[in-house]
Amino acid sequence: MKSTIRRTGSPLMPPTAIADWTREAACRAEDVDLFFGPDHELPWQRDAREEKALAICRSCPVAATCLDAALDQGIWQWGVQGGMTADERTTERRRRLRRAGDARRADKPKPKAKPKPTVWVEAIGLQRRVQAASAAGRRIKTFSDMSGVSESFLSKLRAGRITRLREETAKKIRTAYPDVLAEITDVYPEPLAVAAAHGWPLPGAWGADIDDPSARPRETAAAA
Ligand code: SF4
Repeated sequence: MKSTIRRTGSPLMPPTAIADWTREAACRAEDVDLFFGPDHELPWQRDAREEKALAICRSCPVAATCLDAALDQGIWQWGVQGGMTADERTTERRRRLRRAGDARRADKPKPKAKPKPTVWVEAIGLQRRVQAASAAGRRIKTFSDMSGVSESFLSKLRAGRITRLREETAKKIRTAYPDVLAEITDVYPEPLAVAAAHGWPLPGAWGADIDDPSARPRETAAAA
């Protein structure tokens, strides 16, 4: 490793990696051996030498760049560089790899939540509501405006051409029904005539059992 070191810029950078930042290196004029040590160095000698080298690193304005370069270029295993010993850089490298892995996992798109399964309900109770609203002289358009359900859907429902519908649509119809009936100024002859022709019961013919398929109306539009 030491044979690749030169004294241009930082003495610690391989010739192929000389970069502008090395010209500001605090170790620029230092002996390479102070940072990398001689061969056959004893542990206590190494500790003393590294302490001196690290003291120089602490005053170095490009220490962070030096550390990044050592790690990026795969030369973290040797000597003092970037204000750290080789062991400290090994730990730092592992920490960065772990952090990069965490960031990758965090960036990974989360699996999309499964769409909720569609819940279907029998149409009978909803059909009775629309028919009863017509028997009370409320137009399909009024029901549509107040429920957010399309006129064509409500017409088909009223005519008995729909046997099941989504619970969310059923909920809109159930919720709007009392409001539609409360529109006392909104009474039209057309729905009254259609209801009478079919014998659809008035709203009062149904109680809480309006959704019960076996329930029977107490009175009809014709009878009302
Ligand atoms: S951080 Fe230390 S090894 Fe790196 S350039 Fe500065 S003084 Fe030299």
